Amino acid sequence: MSNSKIPVLFIGHGSPMNAVEDNRFVRGWRELAQKIPRPDAILCVSAHWETWGTLVTGGEDPRTIHDFGGFPQAMYEMEYPAPGSPALAEKVRTLVQSTQVGLDTDWGFDHGSWSVLSRMYPDAKIPVIQLSLDYTQPADFHYRLARELAPLREEGILILGSGNIVHNLRRMALKNNDYATFNEPFALDWAVEADQILKRLIRERKYADLVNYRNLGPAVQLAVPTPEHYLPMLYVLALQEDNEEVEMFNDEPLAGSVTMTSLVIQ
Ligand code: ZN
Repeated sequence: MSNSKIPVLFIGHGSPMNAVEDNRFVRGWRELAQKIPRPDAILCVSAHWETWGTLVTGGEDPRTIHDFGGFPQAMYEMEYPAPGSPALAEKVRTLVQSTQVGLDTDWGFDHGSWSVLSRMYPDAKIPVIQLSLDYTQPADFHYRLARELAPLREEGILILGSGNIVHNLRRMALKNNDYATFNEPFALDWAVEADQILKRLIRERKYADLVNYRNLGPAVQLAVPTPEHYLPMLYVLALQEDNEEVEMFNDEPLAGSVTMTSLVIQ
């Protein structure tokens, strides 16, 4: 590690089934959790919590939300009983000056956070809070807000963005239309092109271009048809300091229109 700050992570979460399956992506998450310092608490920005205004979860005992349909019963019985952290929620509300962050005591952990965290930290002992995505705001709002969270990295807080860089489920192309083939490596031509463009901009650290992703051409428009799976990546990139590197892992496409590419910044 180049400094004493805790790394920042972007996880491509893919299918909710990653909560229960054993596969190469889950192994990647687990290995990473073992490599980085164990955090004192986690702040998760998930694609699956969009709100009017920015909210942070403030409950002591957040519920596990089963925000998906058509999955096996075991998925609805999954619980991730990590505690919340009202103190960390208050700290976030104080740190963020660019907007007023509201306190939410109803939301808990959506599958964008618990499907990943239950594999990275199965003991569920680390307190977790979530920060919502304000769907009324443009990408640069999110990028600037993320910068304000930087001091948390010096206090043992892991900031985790959970989404997918390329994510267009309407264009999903499954072999024989069979969901069981979801994780097989496969990308449609536009997804290959978008993946190359976006990863090149990450490597070249052209984050202003990534914030203005709507100007990156038709392939990227198809890759990011709606912002919610992409924005958590911007939160993570915004937190990179000058002396830090971005490392990619789980860097694979699947289902034709999704990439699992995950980032660790340290
Ligand atoms: Zn998702």
